[in-house]
Amino acid sequence: MKNIYDYSLDDLANYFLNIEEKKFKAIQVYDWLYKKRVNSFYEMTNLKKDLIDKLNSDFSLKKLTILNRLDDVDVHKYLFNLEDNNQIEAVLMHHDYGNSLCISTQVGCNMSCAFCESGRLKKVRNLMPSEMILPIIQVEEDLNIKISHIVLMGIGEPFDNYENVMKFLDIVNEPMGIALGSRHITISTCGVVPKILEFMNNGKQVNLAISLHAPNDNLRNKLMPINKVYNLKILMDAVKKYINKTNRRVTFEYIMLKNVNDSKDNALELANLVRGINCYINLIPYNETSHIEFKKSEKSRILEFYDYLKQKGINVTIRKEFGSKVMAACGQLRSNYKEGS
Ligand code: SAH
Repeated sequence: MKNIYDYSLDDLANYFLNIEEKKFKAIQVYDWLYKKRVNSFYEMTNLKKDLIDKLNSDFSLKKLTILNRLDDVDVHKYLFNLEDNNQIEAVLMHHDYGNSLCISTQVGCNMSCAFCESGRLKKVRNLMPSEMILPIIQVEEDLNIKISHIVLMGIGEPFDNYENVMKFLDIVNEPMGIALGSRHITISTCGVVPKILEFMNNGKQVNLAISLHAPNDNLRNKLMPINKVYNLKILMDAVKKYINKTNRRVTFEYIMLKNVNDSKDNALELANLVRGINCYINLIPYNETSHIEFKKSEKSRILEFYDYLKQKGINVTIRKEFGSKVMAACGQLRSNYKEGS
């Protein structure tokens, strides 16, 4: 049976047209699902009984199961169980500007970045739009809060699940539904160039973040296998095209890995790489995991790196650290659950 949370407002309007109902019924259903947040079609009291029966036989309203929630200062980390008994994660962070939810886009990931926990467990499947929407609804309900920002930085590569991620964006953006504006949403990609170019033409105002993590091909090849397919020249050309076309600033994420990519030379090389590009660099203190050798750079190293970039006139920020105690590194909850550690 189809899960109704997979349907955009347009999809639902088409459904109603197909069963010879008025298409505005879609707006009514959306209102019940996303504004009033009901759990059953039988609560949709402005619909006729036989239509409710029909909806009830055509669609499920099934939510995910919360398997685990770990809390730390300003952060809550969730492990969800999916209907087929796969698990995904979501992390809620309280910022001074609002509540941001980091959500997963796939079960596992095929990108195999050397430092990343998610990629140790290969991709099992793509998430459906509903499996990206439901964490938003369920975390809001569980914590009794409103989520103001969404980042697609959980498990998975969003641009390896392009269609479903675009549908997800349609659903969250919909003013009659969750109504979260594109500018409050960030998609992060390891650099799937054809999809960056496709996304550029899609017209959404969603923020784009690129996981860079290395300032030259030699090092990036070692850290991120995707670089052997789309090297830095190809990636940076795509990013420049994206910026020209959309007029939007891009974020480069740069994990600080001790003695790997955190030297003064690396900083100067990075400054050269992004010179003249409308971007900012987000330095990310690495979240160490017990399964992977990499260590996080010393705080002083990160600050020096920051200063070198600043001196070169680059816009740079250091990401606030959240909840290393609750294993906020991408994919750690799921892999620990699966491996029983
Ligand atoms: N596949 C996408 C989105 C998911 S990863 C991407 O690569 O961008 C989200 C971000 O977290 C990426 O920048 C990723 O490189 C980073 N990341 C992965 N493991 C991490 C860790 N242990 N500590 C800090 N950041 C990590």
